[in-house]
Amino acid sequence: MSEGSGTSDQGPGTRNSPVTGEQTSLAPGLGPPAPLLSVSHLTTGFEQSGRFVPAVIDVSFRIAAGETLSLVGESGSGKSLTALSIMRLVPPPGRIAAGAIRYRGRSLRELSEREMQRVRGAEIALIFQEPMTALNPVFTIGNQIEETLLIHGRATRRTARQKAIDLLEAVSIPEPARRVRDYPHQLSGGLRQRALIAMSLACDPSLVIADEPTTALDVTIQAQILDLLRDLKERLGLALLLITHDLGVVAEMADRVAVMYAGRIVEEAAVRDLFRDPKHPYTQGLMASMPGGEPGKRLRAIQGTVPPLGQLPPGCSFTPRCPQRFEPCPTAHPGDTSLAGDRRVKCYLYGPAVEPIDVAEAAPQAPLRYEGQTS
Ligand code: ADP
Ligand code: MG
Repeated sequence: MSEGSGTSDQGPGTRNSPVTGEQTSLAPGLGPPAPLLSVSHLTTGFEQSGRFVPAVIDVSFRIAAGETLSLVGESGSGKSLTALSIMRLVPPPGRIAAGAIRYRGRSLRELSEREMQRVRGAEIALIFQEPMTALNPVFTIGNQIEETLLIHGRATRRTARQKAIDLLEAVSIPEPARRVRDYPHQLSGGLRQRALIAMSLACDPSLVIADEPTTALDVTIQAQILDLLRDLKERLGLALLLITHDLGVVAEMADRVAVMYAGRIVEEAAVRDLFRDPKHPYTQGLMASMPGGEPGKRLRAIQGTVPPLGQLPPGCSFTPRCPQRFEPCPTAHPGDTSLAGDRRVKCYLYGPAVEPIDVAEAAPQAPLRYEGQTS
């Protein structure tokens, strides 16, 4: 049920396509397929009393077409801000200080606001946690879906209503021809989230960013919405950036997972590998606190909380909460150590890698220029 792509070990020079599960060759000169989205060394933060305080720090990841990457971490770790950075919707006084965001090879940071508006909705759709805030209470859901279709030239006034009904049907809203005339408050939480998903699909995006899409829903409805997302992903070949604090959701949905702590991705791995053998002490702590996660083990939450903005401890941000801390941890933040199986981890237990950036330098006057790729 929660199996990944079900691969077995393969020789060097081959990999499994995240989309089809088929082996693709990595012949010299060909390389892996270009990612749909690549985020490289993203640093985003807020101006506070004349000082730039980073909340997303040197974050890099890639998503291939059709792939699901899950961004997981406790509340306050910078997940939503990462999503907002990609969409260029960071609210002032927040801003992106450094890094590159490429979608289909285009640098999103360099697009005009007009071009970026076309990307939002028509290419990358964002689904929020609370559908009520994303839906307009004074218009019917049909009107809102039709408006989206019209703005992006996906329908005419004559065809928009039927397309809206088709979309509601696609997300399994019962009696779509009737529901299309409902206002958001007339729908249950689960149906509202379905309506919002329908709206986000109106323009046929290739990438959906879903920020805690089921957190506000009760457990049964959560499972239904996750089923829907999985089904749509398979039918439409969508790539998904799924943001969640729930490792159960990750296990069900993701191909790869990036674990975020205090603004940084501290570990990234294929889901199967991460669950079988979590490397970072923070990931291990998250696993151990998962309800029903490890049979026979006592449920235990990680002690302490994510440090608030601007109050990162010296060295590795997880040091004060880490049961495995040792001498190097409070000195400087560890950088990425690459491990076998296309995984990476920021932790001195796995190598001496020191982070190559000084966060304080990601200040307004001296934006870091990173165009390269990680690993
Ligand atoms: P997550 O989605 O992982 O819960 P966020 O990305 O929302 O975390 O927030 C990351 C950090 O940035 C938190 O410390 C949060 O308090 C801070 N933050 C988020 N939005 C704002 C804002 N508009 N102004 C100031 N700080 C913010
Ligand atoms: Mg959030």
